[in-house]
Amino acid sequence: MPRRLVTVRPISAIEPISSTNKTKSFATVGGWRVVVQTGTFKVGDIVVFFEIDAFLPATDDRFKKFEKRFFTFNTQLGFRVQTENPNPNIISQGLIFPLKEFPEIRNALNTHTDFHGKPATTEWLKTEACFEDLLGVTKFEKPPPFDARALGQFPVAIIQKTDIQRIQSTSSNKIFEGWGNKVFQETTKMDGQSMTVFFVLKTHPACALLPGADGKNVFENGRFGVCSKNQELKEESTSPLWRTANRLGLGAQLSRLGKSVAVQGELVGHNINQNREKFPVNEHDFFVFGAWDVEKQRRVPPRQVEGLAQAIGAKHVPVVGYGILRDIAANPLELEARVPTQKGYNGQRREGLVFKEVNGECQFKVIDKTYLLEHDE
Ligand code: ATP
Ligand code: MN
Ligand code: MN
Repeated sequence: MPRRLVTVRPISAIEPISSTNKTKSFATVGGWRVVVQTGTFKVGDIVVFFEIDAFLPATDDRFKKFEKRFFTFNTQLGFRVQTENPNPNIISQGLIFPLKEFPEIRNALNTHTDFHGKPATTEWLKTEACFEDLLGVTKFEKPPPFDARALGQFPVAIIQKTDIQRIQSTSSNKIFEGWGNKVFQETTKMDGQSMTVFFVLKTHPACALLPGADGKNVFENGRFGVCSKNQELKEESTSPLWRTANRLGLGAQLSRLGKSVAVQGELVGHNINQNREKFPVNEHDFFVFGAWDVEKQRRVPPRQVEGLAQAIGAKHVPVVGYGILRDIAANPLELEARVPTQKGYNGQRREGLVFKEVNGECQFKVIDKTYLLEHDE
């Protein structure tokens, strides 16, 4: 049963919070103790209770009193209900509002039946009813914990992440209408882990903004970095990303090129995403599929990416070919049907294909639905 963040409950107890503080009291609702203004509530009152981690929308005027503590979560401005500890002996958990301030909830109670078709009962209120959807309240979730191996977040201020949208989510007709006559590069979508290596020249203003240098990431002319999909990683012998970068000497290679650029590819091999390309124990390799020009703040076009991979001595993901999109297929379904017609790296099944317009202006992926089924995802 998911947590119920907004419930309607009776107050079961009112107690003083201390012998000296007469203005505030503790109110108990369903096991939670909340500090309230003395005299506002009494035992037996039916109230609306907001549990900790309820995220209240700023658009609702009833929450305007928390304005000073509004912040953005999931693109929404609002207030997070949290455990409050106004002084060492007092802990307050949750918020209580009089039911009369929420006519929409009262209305729901009067007109709704419980989940078994019976009129709303005390039992239903106690065990099942929740009103977060009615009020636009969501559950606050912390961003994932900062990994010890991370040096910092992925440097989104200067490098684009590697996500690629599915053709289905780009409104597929538009792709064929708008880009049908353009030349695309078609590559195999490999199924490992996203890895970005970057080099930022010392002379570039962004260099100073990057988090601390440690060991192998400093070169005379700039700063080298290794990132997973969402984080920049510390140099460690246990990191397959760093091990591969070091084995290929990617830092030195990029330093030698003397440009501010990020090279992006798929790390595949032992212990990575079920090693679907079936690499031997402890072996990994890096397959370049893209690059980001840090100077110009734009994608490096696909043919130049192939050249760049070669220039730094790294492999490139398998290129099926280049062609006018409409000559490759007539519609998205036909594109999908192409996926199983060839084998991927090391003779394995392919997850999908990635199409990139030759000027780097449009890109999308096509996934084989049956691949996902077979791999239980
Ligand atoms: P997940 O992160 O769960 O693996 P995904 O691979 O579908 O999902 P998306 O952002 O949807 O992630 O797709 C883009 C990703 O595909 C890139 O981040 C990269 O890791 C991977 N990829 C593999 N092969 C290619 C390729 N040939 N061209 C571009 N991206 C590729
Ligand atoms: Mn994805
Ligand atoms: Mn993937």
